[in-house]
Amino acid sequence: MSLKIKKGDQVEVIAGKDLGAQGRVLQVLPRKQKVLVEGVNEVTRHERVRVNRRGGQEGGITHKEAPISLSNVALVCPTDGPTRAGYRIEEGGTKVRVCRRCGTEL
Ligand SMILES: [Zn+2]
Repeated sequence: MSLKIKKGDQVEVIAGKDLGAQGRVLQVLPRKQKVLVEGVNEVTRHERVRVNRRGGQEGGITHKEAPISLSNVALVCPTDGPTRAGYRIEEGGTKVRVCRRCGTEL
């Protein structure tokens, strides 16, 4: 099965606690069927504050995205919003990813 969502895609969360949130895909974890989406499912971590070699502070309260299930996100079509993606074979055999609703190349 080929994954329809890849790194850099704009997606919208269609289920779960972050419903309606949009962001760019930072990472796809195919084996876990999960994706990491910018600004979505952020978890707060409290780390001990330490001073690095340049004298700056590190740690404290940090926000980091946690992966969410691939089935909870949908690709965003510029015209329709969250949509299902399909494929179209162009002349010459090139496979392009398209919006199932309006046919726009995604
Ligand atoms: Zn569309």
